Amino acid sequence: MNLETCRKILREKLKFTSFRPLQEDIIRSVISGNDTLALMPTGGGKSLTFQVPALALEGICLVITPLIALMKEQVSRLNVMEIKAVAIHSGMTAEEIDIALENSIYGNVKFLYVSPERISTKLFQAKATRFNLSLVAVDEAHCISQWGYDFRPSYLKIALLRDIIPENIPFLALTATATPAVVKDIMTKLRFRKHNILKTSFARKNITYLVRKVEDKGSYLMKTLGRTKGSGIIYVRSRKKCREIAEWLSNCGISADYYHAGLQHELRDKKQEAWSSGRTRVIVSTNAFGMGIDKADVRFVIHWDTPDSIENYFQESGRAGRDGKPAFAVMLYMPADKKRLLDSLKKRFPPVEKIKDIYEAVCSYLNVPEGAGKNSVFDFNLFDFLAKYRLPATETYNSLMFLQREGYLEFTEEINNPSRIHFIVGRDDLYRFQVANESFDAFIKLLLRSYTGLFTEFTPVNEEELSRRSGASRNTVYQYLVKLASFNIIRYIPGKKCALVIFTEERLVRKALYISPDNYLLVKERYEERLKNMIEYIESENRCRQMMLLDYFGEESDNCGICDVCRKRIGEQQNVSIDTVTEKIREILSERSVDAAELVRLSSLPEEVAINTIRQLLDSNIIIKDNEMKLSWKG
Ligand code: ADP
Ligand code: MG
Repeated sequence: MNLETCRKILREKLKFTSFRPLQEDIIRSVISGNDTLALMPTGGGKSLTFQVPALALEGICLVITPLIALMKEQVSRLNVMEIKAVAIHSGMTAEEIDIALENSIYGNVKFLYVSPERISTKLFQAKATRFNLSLVAVDEAHCISQWGYDFRPSYLKIALLRDIIPENIPFLALTATATPAVVKDIMTKLRFRKHNILKTSFARKNITYLVRKVEDKGSYLMKTLGRTKGSGIIYVRSRKKCREIAEWLSNCGISADYYHAGLQHELRDKKQEAWSSGRTRVIVSTNAFGMGIDKADVRFVIHWDTPDSIENYFQESGRAGRDGKPAFAVMLYMPADKKRLLDSLKKRFPPVEKIKDIYEAVCSYLNVPEGAGKNSVFDFNLFDFLAKYRLPATETYNSLMFLQREGYLEFTEEINNPSRIHFIVGRDDLYRFQVANESFDAFIKLLLRSYTGLFTEFTPVNEEELSRRSGASRNTVYQYLVKLASFNIIRYIPGKKCALVIFTEERLVRKALYISPDNYLLVKERYEERLKNMIEYIESENRCRQMMLLDYFGEESDNCGICDVCRKRIGEQQNVSIDTVTEKIREILSERSVDAAELVRLSSLPEEVAINTIRQLLDSNIIIKDNEMKLSWKG
């Protein structure tokens, strides 16, 4: 296998012209059969690093990823390129999952996407031994770290695969945020045969990081939005504030809208689309916004409220300036914020008894009796649950996260599952049915005309579209489908949108529900530590912002020269010594003309100071530049 083959795949199958930095190194490492940890910022192009090797190698690539929405998006993107990819997630029925697994064994499938909780099921493990695997890709690999900021217990089960698949299958772990401790943890937990990290720099040279201590965030915002151009994101904590700020901005004549996870799916899509296409300039959002957004020309990301970790801050602010042009990441801060952050700690860690109450409430809400429920999947509407049991939102949510962390339950994001149908009779039987039941003939013909693959697998269908095409009402279409299903002609799974709860264990009696106090304390400690780091970032006045962020992720760097701390430092240095610096430059230039780089070197001054002064002297025509870029003193 050589890289020429990979370049060809890149061009011909994926339709890209060239690799981005590091993509080629990661691909080379994977193709040579090495376990590999790839660290690249969000938007850096991690997906390609398993897609290319998978297409180059024989067999199927297993991709493990926690977010169902992103999974579905990638699968449909691959399918559009005529690359066979299937997904398995908890929103599917047992029958659908079985068909997808069988197709992965026999059906020329190149990519099998699964959510992590799938790995530990008996069915999956039995089938996995029969896959012709080429590679295992683990996306969002930081979720495996128990003490990291986004732990998911099902990630720990991924390593079970090692026991049932051939030893030489490489694992590729991908992540955009990992501190040095988490990096090590990922490789250990995934049982890497040899530690092997490939990492791009996380420096974002075009982003100006600013921390603004202000009394009145609103008027700062207004001033900034008036002065800057282009579109941006404002992150706030509460849904209520999202709406208030967006409305206030709109009233002041700034094009703005709001976004949070409590809104209907269609509405969210609409709002996101309006912002992505530039019709809405500013989106005010909770941290629900960002998943899968691919907008390159975001000019600013402003945090009205402080995130609870550098990991989150780096991800969110990193949505600015993907196009490489100058962009701003601004953190607004006032002393009360610190107190609020520390207060949030209490809500974040409810007492163990409270967590147990919530567990019992969930079980009763879903009608799960003691001893039952293992591996069951339920639709779960958090708001309905909260309302029914009169529970406080934040504390309940965090209790649920604790139950997830301890491995009892797992939650999915809200997923949008379209309706699916599958013909369970062959073409001949179907034909006989059509002849015998004329009233269904036209509708069946419409189905066959509109969709392909109906005989081999569950295929997404759209009742609206069928209604438009047939001229029948949506309800008539629905009735047709239900009837065909009752005649055992098709299987019909009506579409729905909801979040899911998966019981990873059977329901336990209250006494047996064990929340390890050591874990509880350790998780709390780590959380406090992350908060402390976040506050330190904000309160520090003498370390370059970019340098602090990179240092957190274990990367060395120079002063960025553009953040508020750097600007202040440069300003001070210049104020005290501007005359001396100017005098030095005059001395050098009065002897001979030199170019700027040489002048900086000869002056033996700190580089930023020299460059800044030269720039000012050029601007005010005190020194001039000739055709050969040589500088001379004009005075
Ligand atoms: P990540 O998973 O690292 O956040 P993705 O894999 O989703 O990033 O890629 C981000 C974007 O970059 C996608 O739109 C993808 O098509 C694009 N991309 C990735 N690699 C290349 C490349 N070599 N040339 C051009 N575009 C690329
Ligand atoms: Mg990705």
